Amino acid sequence: MLNQVCYRTIGLKYPSSLSTYLSIGGYKVWKKILKEKPDPINIINEVKLSGLRGRGGAGFLTGLKWSFISKSIPGQKYVVCNSDEGEPGTFKDRDILRYNPHQLIEGMAIAAYVIGATVGYNYIRGEFYEPISVIEKAVNESLNAGLLGKNIDNSNIDFNLYNVYGAGAYICGEETALMESIEGKKGQPRFKPPFPANFGVYGRPTNINNTETYASIPVILEKGGKWHLELGKPNNGGCKIFSVSGHVNKPGNYEIPLGTPFIELLNMAGGVKNGKRLKAVIPGGSSAPVLPAHIVNNLSMDYDSISKAGSMLGSGAVIIMDESTCMVNALYRISHFYADESCGQCSPCREGTSWLYKILSRIVHGHGNVSDISLLDSVASNICGRTICALGDAAAMPVMGFIKHFRSEFEDYIKNNNNRL
Ligand code: SF4
Repeated sequence: MLNQVCYRTIGLKYPSSLSTYLSIGGYKVWKKILKEKPDPINIINEVKLSGLRGRGGAGFLTGLKWSFISKSIPGQKYVVCNSDEGEPGTFKDRDILRYNPHQLIEGMAIAAYVIGATVGYNYIRGEFYEPISVIEKAVNESLNAGLLGKNIDNSNIDFNLYNVYGAGAYICGEETALMESIEGKKGQPRFKPPFPANFGVYGRPTNINNTETYASIPVILEKGGKWHLELGKPNNGGCKIFSVSGHVNKPGNYEIPLGTPFIELLNMAGGVKNGKRLKAVIPGGSSAPVLPAHIVNNLSMDYDSISKAGSMLGSGAVIIMDESTCMVNALYRISHFYADESCGQCSPCREGTSWLYKILSRIVHGHGNVSDISLLDSVASNICGRTICALGDAAAMPVMGFIKHFRSEFEDYIKNNNNRL
């Protein structure tokens, strides 16, 4: 069944309005919290039971993450939402902002209560003009309705939410670069540890989750962790929004239970365009290793199955490639993106991503050598695990994946000296 969690207002009249959200039971959980002030441990346990894993890419257990910040730590704490959504192929979070912003606001308010934060920042990609206007309106509606602010409904609970706008740098989707950016600094990742739970925004304990993760929380607490867990599979609870793009007839966002067979998702997206055959799929955004058709045809769309198949679910961006796709050119474009977006702080990423792009550039311009394929592999494996943040791995993994599964196509391309650009 489609749209059971984050997209549940899609299809309703005025889906983003407060009145629509209230009509489906929205803010019920938040109002109950304001009234009863439950022990945050009970909320964390329910979220743990739900099996909710971070929907931004890392897939870390949300309840466990929340438990890292004790409500009893004195001083200012923050909740941050990562609505930067820069991973190529991903376009799901902007639709939460656009169609169900109040559920995100409620999810952030609940997380703030759990960790004892009074301030939240929603870091949004600055180019999302329409989603920004919708979430701005929703925050104002919540404030005017007495659901946010100071001493909310005489509960002695404060929570103020601010939208912060990025300027389009991919690296600002990395959690610590995002926090630097919120502080008004250049968006460059920090060394970890210390992790945000101890040293986040302005050096204070901070919980950061993705938009889809926070927006899942009100439904989980309303219907129960067990309900959510059973939507999906053990260790892969709930639904996931997959952004399906590329060579399909109906590209778009599909919120479906984790564990749904890939073939079902492909059918929902109208199948491969123009009746062509499927060649390959990038199952989790451009940084996820590509998988050939014979593997994805039997794949179940969940964290563990995709990882077992040699890739990752990542942000849920499913890029479909038909039989006409040139894998050399596809990798060339991906490598250009990462070389361009490296922040330049650490040598393996700064130099390595440029080398990958330059090697691929000479291949596509007809000056490659078959030995360049092993060179690409070697440069990529020397970037992996040697950088401050995950961008290095994100640039290296696609290279290794394309070569692993399509080496012969790279060899043919080079041997035929085929300039296809
Ligand atoms: Fe910057 Fe790349 Fe190092 Fe990340 S891995 S800190 S993007 S240079």
